[in-house]
Amino acid sequence: MASDSRRDCPVCGARLALRWTDEPLLEEFREGTYEVAGFTHEKCESCGETLVRADKLEAVERAAVAAARADLGRLSSDEIHQLRHDLGLTQAELESQLGVGAGTVGRWERGTVLQGATADRLMRVLWAHPELLPELGYVAREGRGPYRKRGG
Ligand SMILES: [Zn+2]
Repeated sequence: MASDSRRDCPVCGARLALRWTDEPLLEEFREGTYEVAGFTHEKCESCGETLVRADKLEAVERAAVAAARADLGRLSSDEIHQLRHDLGLTQAELESQLGVGAGTVGRWERGTVLQGATADRLMRVLWAHPELLPELGYVAREGRGPYRKRGG
């Protein structure tokens, strides 16, 4: 709708250099760069910077993460949510089990962050072998020695 309006580039300052485009956006992960199509955005003709509206940013991130997960064979958001429920864990408890930071599992389940290969494999192992949970929980939470089982 704003396809004929041009703005100055906020990055390099070039006058009226932004143009609207439907070109795929490129999202970089450690594992590679993925194209995300379907998001009209502005691109600077001078410096090449792409500008995505703030309210579209999460949708772009989610599309890129979904593409990367499909390509890399990683668990989807729904699978991570499902395995967490199958294991009977809150997001914070799964974070503790995996040794990842607070809020990480929520971002994986929303699909805005790509889980690393190690966490992905560990989640698969736990999903297939929930009997491993008490030992991992003990190590992650108490860390006093390998032999005492967690209570409860
Ligand atoms: Zn620019």
